[in-house]
Amino acid sequence: MDSSQFRAAAHSAIDHIIGYYDTIESRRVLSDVEPGYLKKLLPDGPPELGEAWAEIQSDIESKIMPGLTHWQSPNFLAFFPANSSYPGILGELYSAAFTSANFNWLCSPAATELETIVLDWLCKLLSLPECFLSTSSTGGGGVIQGSASEAIVTVIVTARDRYLNYLAADAKTDGEREGIIDAHRHKLVALFSDQAHSSTQKGCLIAGVKHRSIKVPGSSTSNYSLTGPLLRQKIEELKSQGLEPFYLTVTLGTTATCAIDNFAEIAEVLKDYPQIWVHVDAAYAGAALICEEYQHLAVGFAAFDSFNMNMHKWLLTNFDCSCLFVKERKHLLNSLSITPSYLRNPHSDSGLVTDYRDWQIPLGRRFRALKIWFVMRTYGVSGLQAHIRNTISHGEHFAALIKSRPDLFKSITPPAFALTVFVVNTGSGGQMLEMQNKITKAVYERINEEGKVYITSTVLDGIYAIRVVGAGPKVRRETLERAFEVVVEAVVVVRDVGLG
Ligand code: PLP
Repeated sequence: MDSSQFRAAAHSAIDHIIGYYDTIESRRVLSDVEPGYLKKLLPDGPPELGEAWAEIQSDIESKIMPGLTHWQSPNFLAFFPANSSYPGILGELYSAAFTSANFNWLCSPAATELETIVLDWLCKLLSLPECFLSTSSTGGGGVIQGSASEAIVTVIVTARDRYLNYLAADAKTDGEREGIIDAHRHKLVALFSDQAHSSTQKGCLIAGVKHRSIKVPGSSTSNYSLTGPLLRQKIEELKSQGLEPFYLTVTLGTTATCAIDNFAEIAEVLKDYPQIWVHVDAAYAGAALICEEYQHLAVGFAAFDSFNMNMHKWLLTNFDCSCLFVKERKHLLNSLSITPSYLRNPHSDSGLVTDYRDWQIPLGRRFRALKIWFVMRTYGVSGLQAHIRNTISHGEHFAALIKSRPDLFKSITPPAFALTVFVVNTGSGGQMLEMQNKITKAVYERINEEGKVYITSTVLDGIYAIRVVGAGPKVRRETLERAFEVVVEAVVVVRDVGLG
């Protein structure tokens, strides 16, 4: 493809993408193809001779679209969203054009420097404490990772090494040091509430450390939050078994209900256990910290070691863009920096530049800061805040609709960060929970089979519940009103035809 062919192809692709976005609402939101559908449509191998772009592009509509679930549709109310925006797409386009591995500052100084600058902007926008800025006296800073899971495994590995290095700090020889580390490594245990995302467990598997969850109760007041007393009890229980808690994930916005752990109580308890690394997972709900009314949540974060939020979930920036902030970057570097001779250069050796390869697991990295820069400049702070506030207000409207029909529904937790969690009200009686679960599941399955909206479910303390979260940029108040009608209709049908 030469430059004039690229110009024509790119114009056509952009037109196609705009058309797709403009009409996305008319498509069935959830793909209903059968597994293996695509193999039947594509040849067994690549073509011998190159094909024209027009031919390739036409296959997008006929072969790829049927197998897409349309995450940008306003009818996508499942999981958490994966926001997209035109400035975000432009950032991806330029990043592709500048394709480079960017592991060292020297690989492309602009890629590193823009990342440091926009993450400092974001740190201030989220009102995170000053210690997470690249200029902080603690030597903190932010780095873009591919996903929250990647950010979490990175900090678990770092926390493990910080803990072991602390224990072995007084060793006189390498042998003594290794002996101390070997004696403790198998006792290390990471903690999280049973509502924390599974990425912490996965991080522990990769880091080779034990993990234990802390059961957190659900009630109208606690909403499945981890509290100080529950944490202290678990730490003491594990210590009495000879285990050594070294790491804790706390969550701002759990996946099932958007619960917020009790940060103030947790920080107070951890004064007695200063070697435990605390990571705040705010993958989805962290975006709300850009609005003043949520910023009180971050006030105590200076007591914690690291924080992540995904701009690609709710902050109008295309996947992938998970932003990790640490209070002391030296721990990342101590754990993850290896410098073979082929990666050495005078700038890195001078210690005056940032080499983000030492802040992450892979070596190479994409130029992702561009899309943050484009998004922030295009929307401005007020535009980003308006997006968060609008979607929260739509979510609260949906929750109010659910509440307006106590004959049909029961809310499980108060609405939070545009998420509503509810069950079908099946009345009271001996077999109530079993019946409620069966009917709620049948309603949930019917809605997704019908495909007018796409929602997800969760199980909380044995309660099968439906989750609805409309936080995509195309979601409107009317979208959620229509979704409510779809849910009501499904309840009526399930009740009329029974469960059979
Ligand atoms: N943490 C929370 C609270 C989440 O809800 C999710 C996913 O939804 C994750 C972490 C994992 O995110 P990622 O897909 O970026 O790894």
